[in-house]
Amino acid sequence: MKIQVIESTVGQSARHQFAVSYVINDTVAIDAGCIGFMHPIARQQRLSHVLLTHSHFDHIASLPVFLENVYSTTGVPVVLCAGEETQRAVQSHVFNDEVWPDLIRIAQTEPPFFTWQTLRESETFSINGLSVTPIRLNHLIPTFGFLIDDGHTSVAIVSDTAPVTQAWDFLNRQPRLNAVFLELSFPESMAELARRTMHLTPTTFLREQRKLKKDVDWFAVHLKATLREEILGDFSAISDSPIVVVEPGTEYSF
Ligand SMILES: [Zn+2]
Ligand SMILES: [Zn+2]
Repeated sequence: MKIQVIESTVGQSARHQFAVSYVINDTVAIDAGCIGFMHPIARQQRLSHVLLTHSHFDHIASLPVFLENVYSTTGVPVVLCAGEETQRAVQSHVFNDEVWPDLIRIAQTEPPFFTWQTLRESETFSINGLSVTPIRLNHLIPTFGFLIDDGHTSVAIVSDTAPVTQAWDFLNRQPRLNAVFLELSFPESMAELARRTMHLTPTTFLREQRKLKKDVDWFAVHLKATLREEILGDFSAISDSPIVVVEPGTEYSF
């Protein structure tokens, strides 16, 4: 399984991640924060499915642009996979003619721009040789993480979330788990903001790690760009083990 966190900087590649998108095996995306800005456009056109974790802007920012770039009047429309609440939020706050044309209404008379596939907690489904299971996380709005298994290896994406129990219980029951991408959004100086916005700091990140009773590779994601150095400084002050922060643009193989 190949996983790439997509760059969201313009001008030159940088470690900062302003918006969130992962691409798995070149054909499945998780979140649409920046897939609509990928170059060349053929990379976007290879994506058959986009799984949305939730409707916060850093996860859907490039969705309208992406749908425009991959639109075909003759081909199979891209599938957007999301929970019902996320679908409702995207339809009423983005595709409402004010922020972007109402693509759902337009599709009543034109070839569709996309089709929805509804995700439900713990209901596994298959796409392009991957089996995907939505995992309920603990965030400001209903949010899914994902367990992705290609038949040989299994990777969990756990973001965005505040401390959560059920997700780790679920992952502890899995026969195999090779890696976890876990969010680490704020430094300790902003612990109260992290609590209010339902994200993790180094202290709560470490607590979450201990809930998983498996030996896996850990990757930190979703570090607020301007706070990256402070977050990593806080982490090294309370943990002996080094932390691996995902590098946008790098391809990780499992
Ligand atoms: Zn969020
Ligand atoms: Zn986010």
